Amino acid sequence: MQNLKINAQRLWDTLMETASFGRTMKGGINRLTLSDDDRQVRDWFRTAAEAAGCTVTVDEVGNMFARRPGRREGLAPLAMGSHLDTQPTGGKFDGVLGVLAALEAVRTLQESGYETNAPIEIINWTNEEGSRFAPAMLGSGVFAGTFPLDFANGRQDRDGNTFADALMRIGYRGSEKAGAHKLGAMIELHIEQGPILENAGATIGVVTGVQGMRWYDVTVCGEDAHTGATPMHLRKNALLGAARVIDAVDAIGREFALGVATVGLIENRPNSRNVVPGEVFFTIDLRHREDNVLEQMEQRMRLALAAILDPLGLTYQEKQIWTSPAVRFAPELIGCVRRAAEEAGLATRDMVSGAGHDAVYVARIAPTTMIFVPCLKGISHNEAESTSFEECAAGAQVLLNAILEYDRGLA
Ligand SMILES: [Zn+2]
Repeated sequence: MQNLKINAQRLWDTLMETASFGRTMKGGINRLTLSDDDRQVRDWFRTAAEAAGCTVTVDEVGNMFARRPGRREGLAPLAMGSHLDTQPTGGKFDGVLGVLAALEAVRTLQESGYETNAPIEIINWTNEEGSRFAPAMLGSGVFAGTFPLDFANGRQDRDGNTFADALMRIGYRGSEKAGAHKLGAMIELHIEQGPILENAGATIGVVTGVQGMRWYDVTVCGEDAHTGATPMHLRKNALLGAARVIDAVDAIGREFALGVATVGLIENRPNSRNVVPGEVFFTIDLRHREDNVLEQMEQRMRLALAAILDPLGLTYQEKQIWTSPAVRFAPELIGCVRRAAEEAGLATRDMVSGAGHDAVYVARIAPTTMIFVPCLKGISHNEAESTSFEECAAGAQVLLNAILEYDRGLA
């Protein structure tokens, strides 16, 4: 079976064309979700998808589905999708590549008159970034039943605008009930956002899952005191305790193979040159691909807090504020991606995603997987984000090959 060849130049041209919606001075994109720039790229996408033979529907959280009919309309659609929103200083590829490569795949099908068994869909998920309306992956989260609709509608940006109002304002509050839309499968192509593929010299990341993540808030309490008049042995220095915990958290990340552990935010109070710090707030972020190992990391972190802070005369509160279990993608789809890359003659590497993606939530309701392509020096969420012409084309080709292989299995 000869597979179709995507048009690499056309894909690149659409990436560069749509980058004009929210273009920044440094060549990146500032396209916050539900902004005027987001409306423009959505309008562009709708027109382009319709021209490629698709019917576009929108659900009540603004998720867009561009459907190309299949031979057997009774089958649930096979989807390819990602997101068109960006960070305020985002790049041209994060999310965008997944949607536009899917569009290129459908254009290729349309051009050749190829008939799939199942309908094929391109999905643009709303508010993946979570930069304007927290949390991230909101549209796919409501779709998968992880977040209630009312929760999404009530999210507010810093100016007090609600998600629901912003959606109405740009005209993308659809009539379809979120989640009522059945999916037969989904493959999300995305840039890696890390350095692994580049360092391995591989073009295609065969993503087998997404690591589990746990977030904690910690407040350490000591006693404010004069730095000159308080002898060392009488101090309750909260910042000293926090410093030792930060070191211990880093050590936990190193102790567990494939684990990562980070203190990324810290507030020292009163933060004055001549006051022994009386209170420190900080966050802890623990991640591992195995939930049982993540559990062990959490236990080690809790033991470290007690072992470090108690002897310093400090008290503390620690609270887990968010958790996302490890995700394992669908083996049959992972196999399709692997064979699709082989067929295209591309070097692959199996990997687990370190970041969250829409595919995390979609995987709860339909067979799902992801394909990664490299990004220069692993840099993303940055205007300098860069994936080459050839890498974008390779990702799109593997996406098309994989979806067609899965579709042939439905015959
Ligand atoms: Zn993304």
